[in-house]
Order: sequence, then C-alpha cells, then structure tokens
Amino acid sequence: MRIVTGTISHETNVYSNIRTDLEEFKKRRLLHGDEFFKDFDGTKSPAGGIIDGCKQHGYELIPTVFASAVPSGTITAEAFDTILNGILEGIKAAGKYDAAVMHLHGAGVSEKYPDIEGKVLSEVRKLVRDKPLIATFDLHANYTKQMVESADMLIGYDTYPHIDGYERGVEAVDLTKKMLEGKLKPTLGFTQPPMLPALQVQFTGRYPMKKLIDEAHRMEETPEVETITVAGGFPWSDIPEAGMSFIVTTNNDQTLADKLAKELHDMAWNMRRDFLVSPTPLKQALRHATQATETPIIMADIGDNPGGGTPEDGTVVLKAILEEGLTGGVLALIWDPEAVKKAIDTGLDKTVDVMLGGHTDDMHGAPLLLSAKVKHISDGTFISNGPMGSGVPMDMGPTAILEIGGNDVIVTSKRLQPLDLTLYKALGIKPEEQRYIVVKSSVHFRAAHEPIAAEIIELDTPGLTSPRLAGFGFKNIRRPIFPLDVEMLGITELKSMKDE
Ligand SMILES: [Zn+2]
Repeated sequence: MRIVTGTISHETNVYSNIRTDLEEFKKRRLLHGDEFFKDFDGTKSPAGGIIDGCKQHGYELIPTVFASAVPSGTITAEAFDTILNGILEGIKAAGKYDAAVMHLHGAGVSEKYPDIEGKVLSEVRKLVRDKPLIATFDLHANYTKQMVESADMLIGYDTYPHIDGYERGVEAVDLTKKMLEGKLKPTLGFTQPPMLPALQVQFTGRYPMKKLIDEAHRMEETPEVETITVAGGFPWSDIPEAGMSFIVTTNNDQTLADKLAKELHDMAWNMRRDFLVSPTPLKQALRHATQATETPIIMADIGDNPGGGTPEDGTVVLKAILEEGLTGGVLALIWDPEAVKKAIDTGLDKTVDVMLGGHTDDMHGAPLLLSAKVKHISDGTFISNGPMGSGVPMDMGPTAILEIGGNDVIVTSKRLQPLDLTLYKALGIKPEEQRYIVVKSSVHFRAAHEPIAAEIIELDTPGLTSPRLAGFGFKNIRRPIFPLDVEMLGITELKSMKDE
C-alpha cells in the first residue's frame, strides 16, 4: 500500500501584526518530498508517528510538502496558495496510491480562506476521491463543517501540553489500515457547545478539561466507537467556528456517534462556569518569588505566548522584575534579533547597551533601555528532549544571554516557545538551580518544567494570548458564546457574581 501525506500547520492569531508569508514558514520548516524523513524519522512527533505507523504495516509513505510556521498573523494568500498547490501537485505526482494521511493544525486563517484546513481537505478530497482521507490535528483546532464533511476521520491530540502527537500519528495510520481492509466505515458525530475557553483551562492535566478527556476515553471503550476528538479551540483565529468541539467517530453507527457527541457537548456546557480563568497579579507573584524558600518558581507570562501567536518580545515581566529587585533567575525568552546582533558585535563578558524588546506592537510593554553584560553567545540550536516532540531539531537563531540586574535574560533571533529543558542546558544554564524561571508560554511549559518546579504561577500579563478574551473585540466568532456573553453563566451565577 502507498500512503500520501502533507502538512500545513499554523495557528493564526489574527491580532498579530507579524504577517505570515512564505519566509515565516521557511524560518521554521518548509520541507519538500523526502526532506520530510530527514527531519522527522525517529522523532516522537505526529509526523514521526505517521512514519512509524506506515513502517509497522509495511506501507510506503510519500511525503509532499510539510509547512509549519510559528503562530503569527494571518497567512498571506500567496503563502497559503503556494503550499496548498505544492501538496496537491505532490499528490498528483505520487501516481497510484491508496490513502491520504494528512497532519494539519486546525486554526489556520489565510487572507482568502478563514478555514484553510477545510480548503485543504476539500481540495485533497477531489484528488483522492473515494480513497480514505484521514487527518490529525492539534488540540487547539477549530473544526468546521467543511473539514468534517471533507475527511473520513479527524483525529485530534488528547493532551495539552501536547505529548501524544506521535501516538495520534500512529493511530491515524492504524485506522487507515482498518478502512483499507474494509473493516471500518467511519460515521462522525460533530457538536460545538457555544464555548470559547482560554488556553489555561484547556490544560488536560486538571479539571475541567481532564474530565472531558476522561469521559471521551471511557466512551472509546465501547466497541463501536473508533476514536473521539475533544478540542478546546483557538479563540484568536476569530472565525465563526472558533472554540470547543467534539467529534465522535463510530463504525457505521451514526445514531451512536450523534448521541455521544451530544453527551460531551452537554457535559461541557454544564461545567462552563469552571472554564473561567483567574491568573495571579504580577506584583503579587514576584513578591512571593522573592520570599520563597522552595525553588525554582516557574512563572508563566501567559499573555506573551508565541505558541499562540504573540511576538515574544514583551517586556512587562522583565520591567516588573527589575523594579521589584528580584534576582537569581532566568527569563525565557525575549525575541530581539537586533539586540542579539549588538551583543555578539560587542563580545563576550563586555557591557552592551540595548533597547530590549517591545518592538513589535504596543500590547506587550515598551522597549527597555538597559545596560547588560554579555554572558553567553550561542548559535541557538539544540535537539529537543521532550516530553513534547522529543528528537526534533530546534533553532532559536543566534542567541545571547544578557545578565541584567542579577538575572539571566535569554535573547534570541527566532521566536520559540520555551518548552524543553534542553533549551537551557544548550546555553549552559542549570534550570533546577534557579530561584525562578519566567517562561513565555500558556500551558506547554508544564510538560518539561513541572518535574523541576517547586511551584507554578500563571501571571496575569497583558498580550495577544491573555485569557481576558472580552478585550479583543472579536468580529466573526458566533454569538452568543461563553464567556464573551457572560449572561450565559445562568441567572444564579450572575447573582452571586454581583454579591461578591
Ligand atoms: Zn496546540
């Protein structure tokens, strides 16, 4: 059997003013044909899972285009059309094949298409016709009717932090095999409660998201149920379908699929008040970190999470740290290619004056004029060690550690969410020995940092991934939706909120 595969992966934050053009894809990963194997063979990533799934069943895998960019603003029409064309031409050039297994993200918006995955799947469907078409997705996918109608199965990650991408890739190939053998006729039940949860409450390690995932796993034990996808969605792509989704795939039993999808919908809706977020005020957290005896304290700058499309050059937390006089920690990280260049030109152990960060927009704090010691210089590459995407090569671009006020500030030339401890070790930093580490991340950092953390604090910081969703002025998201339309809490809850 021969399986074709292709990827366009982008979580689009339409409020970011970083245009996502082809260069943005090239900066992270834009692979053609067999280049795919070089980056992903042997990795614990979704692509690695598709590769191994095919190996296990003796299938030949034919990669077309793999395109992935760090989350940022709307994808240019040119970039999306070029990548889509590459995938379609690759499939045509594959000649005879038996199925398509795609890996997509599921929250991509281009200048022409608000739902790029719906467009990709419907175009791939025209080519593969009645052959199986399966796709894997991120937990933050926004699912649409066009996606559900175009593919045979849509398989989302069950975890946030995403540590099961590899398993979902293997699962996609296993279910493809079952279809190819005529043992599976997928029937999909699809529901979307009117809920738009912020990222923090999509953490699958705790209630309420954990309860939904556990329930889906319980339902998957029913023999007729093949796979269930629970998605938290991504608010900032601002499309009508943004938010929570459930997709139940049964084997030729539409009634059961619809029934279980409705049950998950109702369960989520009944828990909606528990999907509100209350992060810690910044000053309060820093004061606590100053006094803490158990370390390291991991503090998440959740407003400036590049994994959700922010610039990662926010200065709000660094400014507050310097004002508070907190020392002995690491800030991971600030994206500022100019500052890195200046540091490298100045040289190791010398003092450099920089206007650090805050260059992209006015939502994440102003640039800070600082005198810093150039403590370390690196090419910024390392191999990730997991638990997320273990084995995948990472690249922060030329990187400098600037010593500022007794703290190590990692300054990079490329944006990268700090979610792997190898990032620190590659720069000679011992994460366990820090008083604190600030990570620009919403939830992903937990996978690697939780084991070393004395404590984790989510900071109430401003920015493009702030859980204060009401401030964004969404234009296209369907209404009413919770929590934007707070009256959907229900009469009793509203009353008690007023009482407080
Ligand atoms: Zn995600």
